[in-house]
Amino acid sequence: AKENGKNNYHLYSASLNIQSFKLYTMERDLRKSIQNGELRVYFQPKVETSTGKIVGAEALIRWEHPVWGLISPNEFIPLAEENGFILEIGDWVLKQVCTYLNEWEQSGLPIVPISINKSAKRFLISDWTSVIYNTLKETNTDPSLIEFEITETTLLQHNDTVNNAIDFLKEIGIKIALDDFGTGYSSFTYLKQYPINTIKIDQSFIRNISNHSDEMIIKSTIYLAKGLGMKVVAEGVETKEQLTFLKQLNCDEIQGYLFSKPVPEKEFQHLLQMAIIK
Ligand code: C2E
Ligand code: CA
Ligand code: CA
Ligand code: CA
Repeated sequence: AKENGKNNYHLYSASLNIQSFKLYTMERDLRKSIQNGELRVYFQPKVETSTGKIVGAEALIRWEHPVWGLISPNEFIPLAEENGFILEIGDWVLKQVCTYLNEWEQSGLPIVPISINKSAKRFLISDWTSVIYNTLKETNTDPSLIEFEITETTLLQHNDTVNNAIDFLKEIGIKIALDDFGTGYSSFTYLKQYPINTIKIDQSFIRNISNHSDEMIIKSTIYLAKGLGMKVVAEGVETKEQLTFLKQLNCDEIQGYLFSKPVPEKEFQHLLQMAIIK
């Protein structure tokens, strides 16, 4: 038994070493990922609950690392937040999305609004508004096709630079969605103070619709969003039961594996075109 325990220890420490080696190489390689062309934008459709039509998509980043393969944003976004590279990543994603929108338009392909995740950090740098303005202009993008998904952490910063950025977005017509609603520091004050267009119910609530508390939280959030004239999107919808439940409550849109996981651009266009033929 003792021998066995020893072996287990060796295995455990070997996998720990691989983990820390991976972390080390990711940190080292992240800064070169953009210039090396290793980042990809995937799209996950948002579906209108009442019609089943694709009415939008969320842009989700992926990193194709030469050694580690496809790395999830949950692994490298925290690193990028720490070393500040998140600013460049965010600007790159916006540019990429606008470029795709422009290509789709030029080729006569269907177009839907795209939501982009935004780090709270980006709102604190005042040059940001000119970066957005220039990107939209260069790519000839209609601002109403862009929505930024932010979390309550962004609004919690209560800072003039953040407020100015949000005013700017509203002025030029970029929409704002409050992501992961119900987790973190949810406060009704934000809903009153900021020009929020969309509320996204966090997937942790959708996962347990049979739980009474989660059911009540979902119902109240939809009621609240409707009352405030906001759109409400449920994320992480995986089952027909969840869809039926959300349909009954008139939740505007759903997003989740039930309809599609995040897919590369070509596949997303394919989904959009199939939906139109139908
Ligand atoms: P998020 O913004 O909450 O995005 C939703 C996550 O849920 C995505 O994970 C998506 O693939 C996943 N998801 C969608 N439907 C389902 C479902 O039915 N079941 C389950 N279990 N999961 C589902 P992903 O793509 O791994 O992204 C993770 C997080 O990384 C995102 O969470 C977001 O916070 C961050 N992220 C992704 N792309 C970007 C980006 O371009 N910029 C920034 N700043 N953050 C990003
Ligand atoms: Ca999001
Ligand atoms: Ca979310
Ligand atoms: Ca999340």
